[in-house]
Amino acid sequence: MDTGDLAERVMAGERRALARAITLVESARADHREAATALMGEVGKAGRQALRIGLSGTPGVGKSTFIETFGLFLVERGLKVAVLAVDPSSARSGGSILGDKTRMEQLSRHPMAFIRPSPSQTQLGGVARRSREAVALCEAAGFDLVLVETVGVGQSETMVAGMVDLFLLLLAPAGGDELQGVKRGIMEIADILLINKADGPLKDVARRTCADYAGALRLLRKRSQDPEGFPKALMVSAVEAEGLKKAWAEIEALAEWRRKTGTWERTRAEQARHWFEEEVRHGLLRRLTEDKPLAARMRALGEAVAGGEVSPAEAAAEILARLG
Ligand code: GDP
Repeated sequence: MDTGDLAERVMAGERRALARAITLVESARADHREAATALMGEVGKAGRQALRIGLSGTPGVGKSTFIETFGLFLVERGLKVAVLAVDPSSARSGGSILGDKTRMEQLSRHPMAFIRPSPSQTQLGGVARRSREAVALCEAAGFDLVLVETVGVGQSETMVAGMVDLFLLLLAPAGGDELQGVKRGIMEIADILLINKADGPLKDVARRTCADYAGALRLLRKRSQDPEGFPKALMVSAVEAEGLKKAWAEIEALAEWRRKTGTWERTRAEQARHWFEEEVRHGLLRRLTEDKPLAARMRALGEAVAGGEVSPAEAAAEILARLG
């Protein structure tokens, strides 16, 4: 495969090339992996930066609807928007397919937008890499914004937070008890909480929910590196396209502040270091399973350790020595 040619076409903004490139990074085949690594090296030279935004929320909170209206709002402002979905559990969650194009009908047909649903079969360890590389590919293709959608369960937020510049959490209007149910970890990752469905009969509840979250955020923390007032809670209505202007203004203000203070660069540098270490870790683990004699020795040593013949530390030292 001519990865140089593919890289050039990606950087020229050809969406078919972008789609092909993402398919390549999603593949687990060893030769594809090699080509993907070469490709990522090529596109890295573009030196383009998009604003990378993570978006999370439980199924039914309105993610698809929000991405459709917010995406249209952004393309109308002349911004090129890419949407990627990350779902480590499966492509389906709670009946809604992440990044499903039929649920973002207008946006998916817009020439300034690119939507990529989560792949149906991704190996667990491969999800992070696939997503991270897909984000970088969209960035190299010249998108101004890359939205990374994930479902509000498990470890996916933490993973996505490690590859974006800022993080949005979509929430539904709810009573006090439900508010308690929002995991602390997610609240700590989010930069802006968006209380969706602030329309019609839900508007009053949304207002109260928004105030409750704002209060909770004040108690929870203030990130020393962030400007006054962040993290924030705001109201939106994805259906009525309300509150989008305000939300976008806050996103831009935070991004601008982080750029100016150097937080942006620092965070990206830390993220790059983290992913490098993850790659090494995964590579080592892969060798332990793919190198047959090594895997056999590992099993044998496992038995020996279980039988009390060798200490765990000694056995591990032998395997590590073999890894060289
Ligand atoms: P997702 O599972 O998070 O992607 O949620 P969807 O976007 O599929 O929305 C779930 C349901 O909530 C759908 O019936 C939407 O019509 C509804 N919904 C989404 N956004 C809003 C909103 O702003 N206001 C109201 N009233 N309903 C909404």
